[in-house]
Amino acid sequence: MQELTHYINGAHVKGTSGRFADVFNPATGEVQAKVPLANQAEMDQAVSAASAAQPAWAAVNPQRRARVLMKFVDLLNRDMDKLAEALSREHGKTLPDAKGDVIRGLEVVEYCIAAPQMLKGEYTDSAGPGIDMYSMRQALGVTAGITPFNFPAMIPMWMFAPAIACGNAFILKPSERDPSVPLMLAELMEEAGLPKGILQVVNGDKEAVDAILYHDVIQSVGFVGSTPIAEYIYGTGCAQGKRVQCFGGAKNHMIIMPDADMDQAADALVGAGYGAAGERCMAISVAVPVGDDTADRLIEKLVPRVEALKVGPYTSGDDVDYGPVVTAAAKSNIERLVQTGVDQGAKLVVDGRDFKLQGYEDGFFVGAHLFDNVTKDMDIYKTEIFGPVLSTVRAQSYEEAIGLAMDHEYGNGTAIFTRDGDTARDFANRINIGMVGINVPIPVPLAYHTFGGWKKSAFGDLNQHGPDAFKFYTRTKTVTARWPSGIKEGGEFSIPVME
Ligand code: NAD
Repeated sequence: MQELTHYINGAHVKGTSGRFADVFNPATGEVQAKVPLANQAEMDQAVSAASAAQPAWAAVNPQRRARVLMKFVDLLNRDMDKLAEALSREHGKTLPDAKGDVIRGLEVVEYCIAAPQMLKGEYTDSAGPGIDMYSMRQALGVTAGITPFNFPAMIPMWMFAPAIACGNAFILKPSERDPSVPLMLAELMEEAGLPKGILQVVNGDKEAVDAILYHDVIQSVGFVGSTPIAEYIYGTGCAQGKRVQCFGGAKNHMIIMPDADMDQAADALVGAGYGAAGERCMAISVAVPVGDDTADRLIEKLVPRVEALKVGPYTSGDDVDYGPVVTAAAKSNIERLVQTGVDQGAKLVVDGRDFKLQGYEDGFFVGAHLFDNVTKDMDIYKTEIFGPVLSTVRAQSYEEAIGLAMDHEYGNGTAIFTRDGDTARDFANRINIGMVGINVPIPVPLAYHTFGGWKKSAFGDLNQHGPDAFKFYTRTKTVTARWPSGIKEGGEFSIPVME
């Protein structure tokens, strides 16, 4: 049995707490490794290494820091197949999807190569007589991030690339479900020239998270995961005086107007609803056709597509649409929620409950499910299922459809399918959701825009990546400077105002 490690101060370090978690191969159900769960002392070790290394890293000029990221991009491309294989083996997603996970992270690393431009600051010449004023963005110091299982390459990179580009040290606490890729990323950053102690990986669970939240030296905490944990981390981290940004769960609605191209809408729903087994925070989990005729036409198109989905292990290559879910617990939670849907009166038009994959009976595979006639009061509508389950809620008007999405507690992403520009424009302007697609089902913004939801999908003021990342990982300092030739004789007793 492989025993994974932490990555502290440039070396793989065995866990000393005596606590471990099982890392499964979701396709076979076998435990393939054990990951150590850190205690306070192990976190302290990483924080000391980070504190010792960070001032020198912040003093490296931003262009040289960016060069480390440039080299890292090359190494990611060199090791793409290896990273994707390790990712699929622990997460279960298909190989093309695993590569996508690495590439969407890599794109943010590329964006962060603009650090010299982003960190330039502002300057006002002659703000007053003989007075100049300038603002600079300085690194926070030691920063930390806690990441979910569903994007074990992309989300760590979304955090550590800007943090490190800004001159911080970063401690990553990845998901204990799939920790191998984060460890590989830390090794690659050092191969790219990053000094020891600037990027460390401390594996663990709540104990390691609390060690971050209550550590005096750690200045900021980024979190991506489920909403209850996001709320806990945001509340606790802020109360400890840290800068915190937390991104939580989702229930993304896609509205299908009567004028939409129904084939395009059905194709989009199948990809966005069932890709990665529905384990994406930007997955579409609710289809809202407007009018019964639209709903009937949509369901007619969806049923054969959903029934034809190919479910299997990543080792089957391109022949698979989606793989297993991450753990047996995730599988039984999905199955339980599907049963509540049936019990509460939704119509299960594609029933994946008896799905079994020959030769992989112990794997965590879940068949594709499609519900029709779902209503607002049902558990499958209110809860994030995070599985291959699409719910159809029939709306009788556009107003009812937009109202559904607006009233839902989550506000991560949404989409509308229509040919009508006025409707699309009205939707984009009025909706209280952070990321909006117009005939685009998974509207994940690119690296140079920012990513973040509204309502219970995000806590904190700044989004991930894009210009917000440079703000989150720096503090502004503003200097007002006057040289002796500009100083008048005598003290000034009233508040200074510029003449
Ligand atoms: P999770 O909340 O269970 O775990 C996320 C992280 O929190 C992990 O590192 C985990 O070790 C830690 N954690 C778990 N329980 C904890 C506790 N009690 N106290 C402190 N830390 C704890 O989430 P997950 O199952 O890994 O990921 C799926 C969730 O993440 C979904 O809800 C999904 O929507 C969300 N997600 C959101 C975004 C976004 O950008 N909004 C992106 C990806 C995933």
